[in-house]
Amino acid sequence: MKIVVLKFGGTSVGTIKRIKKVSNIIVSYVKKGFKVIVVSSAMSGSTNDLIKKSKNISKNFNSSEYDVLVSSGEQISCALIAGRLNHIGYKSQSWMSWQVPIFAEGDHKTSRISKINKNKITDYLKSGGIPVITGFQGLNNNNRITTLGRGGSDASAIMFAKFFKAKKCIIFTDVEGVYTTDPNKIKNAKKIRIISYEEMLEMASLGAKVMQPHSIQDARLNRIKIDVKSSFVNRPGTIITKRKNINRKRTITGLTSTKNDAKVTLVGVKDKPGVAASVFKPLSQNYVNVDMVVQTSSSTNRETDITFTIKSEELPKTVKLIKQNTKIKYRDLLINKNVSKVSIIGVGMITTPGVTYRMFKTLADNGINILVISTSEIKISVLISKKNIKKALSALHKEFKLNS
Ligand code: ADP
Ligand code: ASP
Ligand code: MG
Repeated sequence: MKIVVLKFGGTSVGTIKRIKKVSNIIVSYVKKGFKVIVVSSAMSGSTNDLIKKSKNISKNFNSSEYDVLVSSGEQISCALIAGRLNHIGYKSQSWMSWQVPIFAEGDHKTSRISKINKNKITDYLKSGGIPVITGFQGLNNNNRITTLGRGGSDASAIMFAKFFKAKKCIIFTDVEGVYTTDPNKIKNAKKIRIISYEEMLEMASLGAKVMQPHSIQDARLNRIKIDVKSSFVNRPGTIITKRKNINRKRTITGLTSTKNDAKVTLVGVKDKPGVAASVFKPLSQNYVNVDMVVQTSSSTNRETDITFTIKSEELPKTVKLIKQNTKIKYRDLLINKNVSKVSIIGVGMITTPGVTYRMFKTLADNGINILVISTSEIKISVLISKKNIKKALSALHKEFKLNS
């Protein structure tokens, strides 16, 4: 069977008109001779509304019920797509994760698909049907619905492509592909025609919302080639593939920025072995994800400042854990919620000297102060004041010649 997986994001199924459009796209692949598996997100805004409802019920809403609740939007969009396909003369049916079933492992809200049972879907495809599958959800070991993290329908699509050995996995979204930076923020952003898994993973992890990071890890592991394109206009999009397939000329492939970061500084901590471990142990035990870390030591009074970043929503928990921590002493605790991480990403930087300097110089020339720095082989991230994000992205976009 020549199978294609088509995934539609929230905006693509956000209105009845768009659902009709999406149904025509699905039909166009059937007409090309493909057996089509459709994976859909919830209609845009609906997952956020459901999350809001859970918060209005309780600040500690049970996580198992949370998953039942927030995954329900996908049931609606899938039924509407299948219903439309029926209306225009095609055999189609919606499938919830437990009906397939799609098995997932890990904690509620952040599960990962481990296995997809193929039998029923294969039979249905063979009978000429178009299965329309709820993204974002799976069935866990306790027979409960679980979800795959925000944006998790991308991961559902990749895993369907894996288990069904699909010829293609196409992610339809509201922009024409993966851009050099968020095209809704920087109007000069350019579509990237081909990008490696590694770069896409960094971009996704560092704030490019267009693909969910876990989905890229799954795709890379299973060598699933992804095509990201628009459901609004039929134009070539972005191919995400292995590095070997790419003949790159640019040093930097893309830029990202994050929202919702917070910086915490412990001022005047004793400069002796084990202090950093004592600071971070309770945070790790309580699942606070620490991102950037910097320690500055003073040569005179054997004291040090420890600065780190976390997601803003973790701030109250983090502050509480630090204040409760009897193993550490510090003179002051400073908090800054108005920060954002700006990153440049590209495999080209491995072989090009001077990239770090160019980034720092560009920011300096624009009067942007760097608060924390972190690097890896293919990315450099800096923490800056939130108010400077747009200025930083525009200047770096120009400096690394991504405009052309
Ligand atoms: P979907 O609902 O289709 O899953 P998302 O909202 O999750 O779509 O992702 C698409 C959005 O990602 C775009 O509207 C865009 O604003 C944002 N985005 C951020 N960075 C990038 C980038 N580098 N390239 C393309 N889109 C990006
Ligand atoms: N509907 C879910 C979300 O909004 C999953 C997705 O869109 O991929 O996060
Ligand atoms: Mg998405």
